[in-house]
Amino acid sequence: MTTATAETVLALGGGSKAVTLDLGDILKWPIVTEEDESAVLGVLRAGAMSGTDITKQFEREFTQWQGTEYALGYCNGTESLRAAMWACGLGAGDELICPSMTYWASCTAALTMGAAVHFADVEKDTLCIDPNDIEHRIGPRTRAIVAVHYCGHPCDMDPIMKIARKHNLKVIEDVSHAHGALYKGRKVGSIGDIAGMSMMSGKAFAIGEAGMVATNDRKLYERCIAYGHYERTGLASVYNKADRQITDPELTKYAGLPLGGFKHRMNQTCSAMGRVQLKHYDERMKDIQDGMNRFWDLLDGVPGVKAHRPAKQTGSTMGGWYYARGLYRAEELGGLPAAKFCEAVRAEGVGMCHPGANAPLHLHPVFHTADIFNQGQPTMIAFGQRDVRQGKGTLPVAESVAQICIGVPWFKKDRPEIIRQYAEAYRKAAEHADELKG
Ligand SMILES: *Cc1c(COP(=O)(O)O)cnc(C)c1O
Repeated sequence: MTTATAETVLALGGGSKAVTLDLGDILKWPIVTEEDESAVLGVLRAGAMSGTDITKQFEREFTQWQGTEYALGYCNGTESLRAAMWACGLGAGDELICPSMTYWASCTAALTMGAAVHFADVEKDTLCIDPNDIEHRIGPRTRAIVAVHYCGHPCDMDPIMKIARKHNLKVIEDVSHAHGALYKGRKVGSIGDIAGMSMMSGKAFAIGEAGMVATNDRKLYERCIAYGHYERTGLASVYNKADRQITDPELTKYAGLPLGGFKHRMNQTCSAMGRVQLKHYDERMKDIQDGMNRFWDLLDGVPGVKAHRPAKQTGSTMGGWYYARGLYRAEELGGLPAAKFCEAVRAEGVGMCHPGANAPLHLHPVFHTADIFNQGQPTMIAFGQRDVRQGKGTLPVAESVAQICIGVPWFKKDRPEIIRQYAEAYRKAAEHADELKG
């Protein structure tokens, strides 16, 4: 047995830390420059925060970038997804299929429409909805499937679209984690029937509190307008029709009032920042991709940790790598629990290394007992739909989240020296896994 040198002793065991370099701005996001500042100031000085002219410009530019016919700005991502659900016809007594491991806004608005959420499990390697766990959940009242491109990883859209077409269901893409990600060369958000997405300040495309709907379907676009963008319906006949963006007589007859009772307009300070951010997004996203891919290439072959990214040469990418996760495989490290592994990595100087991701939604009481309409029964069953509530043990992968994924740094720049140190922290913990058991 050789004596360990200082470098090979875990920081947890008194050795020196793997991460010693100054981080600089490698984790800073979003990147805000004078260009954003003057765009926002312009809105403030014009007193046009509640207008729609700049938002419409942003939408036009966004359609070019996204590759869809239509884009519609929202006050946040949650509301964009609510509108997408309603546009797809979700109503009282219906069901929505959604992965259990996601942020709540991917599906929770369904309850407020009197619909139930039927959760599906996720795949262990993509952390996205498992296409093999969808079809058997479809019932007579199922209307739509939500495909969440989780942590930037594109969902396997081909089988999902095939199932949806076969059963006449709509596919709603939740792009909140994955702006700019590609699925087999196609941009996510342009593959399903409609997409909703967050653009809040923590996301990869970050412009404050904002969201966007994108679609190629004119009917869905008009339904989104009618639902929560009253000022774009042309208002009632006595008012101005110049702004009318809807043509369907079933919708124009309600012009002037929003069918959802919602007001979904984007604040134009966000739209102005959005126009600037969009110009630079692809370039900045490439820096993120270069940095993150470098990190994972350095860890290639290290037992216990595995990149959360599509295989190379598939045409699929991770977009802006929002909420970057690593896949953890305890069985390759003699069963070392993720929490213990992360503790060792944190000791090496990697503060963000914690186990887990979004907790499984199917176990949350909101999807079991919450009585949103004060009907004396849980909303999940109150509108006569079958009982699709799911208890512990039903979705094993989502329920194992705290064992199968761990936090990794979300690099915004490709700085080889710093990234090498971070990768070293994970490698060290993996190579010393035996010492961490006990
Ligand atoms: C952030 C997020 C949303 C909600 O967006 P907000 O802009 O915060 O309302 C929806 N879905 C997912 C997956 C998210 O991460």
